[in-house]
Amino acid sequence: MHFKPAYYYKLLVSLVFLLAAASVVAADFSLEQVANGVYVHYGVHEDLDDGYHGDISNIGFIIGSKGVAVIDSGGSLKTGQRLRAALREITALPILYVINTHIHPDHIFGNAAFLADQPQFIGHEKLANAMELRKPAYLKQGQQLLHDDFVGSDIIKPTVSVAQSLVLDLGQRKLLLQAYPNAHTNTDLTVFDETSATLWTGDLLFIERTPSLDGDIKGWLKALDQLQQLKNIKQAVPGHGPVTRDFSSALNHEARYLNLLLEDIRAAIKQGKTMEQTMDSAAQAESGNWQLFNAVNRRNINLLYPALEWE
Ligand SMILES: [Zn+2]
Repeated sequence: MHFKPAYYYKLLVSLVFLLAAASVVAADFSLEQVANGVYVHYGVHEDLDDGYHGDISNIGFIIGSKGVAVIDSGGSLKTGQRLRAALREITALPILYVINTHIHPDHIFGNAAFLADQPQFIGHEKLANAMELRKPAYLKQGQQLLHDDFVGSDIIKPTVSVAQSLVLDLGQRKLLLQAYPNAHTNTDLTVFDETSATLWTGDLLFIERTPSLDGDIKGWLKALDQLQQLKNIKQAVPGHGPVTRDFSSALNHEARYLNLLLEDIRAAIKQGKTMEQTMDSAAQAESGNWQLFNAVNRRNINLLYPALEWE
């Protein structure tokens, strides 16, 4: 038996391609410096059910003269380790704080990568309890979705909790943390870097990716009003999507979707539509404005419809 040279050539080409793809996966952990000392790693817009790799949310860090605060750690120990390695290429200063903007697994499961740094872990006053309640389900889900990539990922609870607000000093740089009542979740926290006037919103703000609800839609809209009142924001880092210098428009864009969702579900209930019918119809006018719209919008309706039925 003998193969044509073309066969070997094709084999060689595909091997080279495979190796190149593998090295890209290993090395490709991009960081963008969005202001002096403020670094963001952008997650990709993958759905949990569709090729989730534990790296879908925006995570990053802020560097002061004394040390560093990490803001969200990614969806797995592996993602947290990659963030830490990227951080260490930029600064050798101690990692003083790891802040979690809320409970969701794509934001917290990299925490363990920073344990050896002995930082304060910081979260909303309700975060520790939410972590305790969701731990079994989140660990199971992470293993099912990420397999080997989830090894070593664990729930690391806050050592400092924020009831209303808190100021952290990174050395010649202060971070103002603000807790919110039930909104995107019941554990939402924003981080404002005074020096650069950069606001990290966590998932109170989605850009491009369809906003997903896990808290209280009316509380979320109220939080958006509150954020709209802030006048000194130069730029905002959303939980998902690109950094924006037009914070007000981004808030309006999200509020428009959430308001329509609320209106359409209320109207559907009034008209006697079933939840299934409502899942196919509510907020459809927004479908062209967002990524992953159908899956996320259906989940939002699935959560909201039963709650609004009893309004
Ligand atoms: Zn979230």
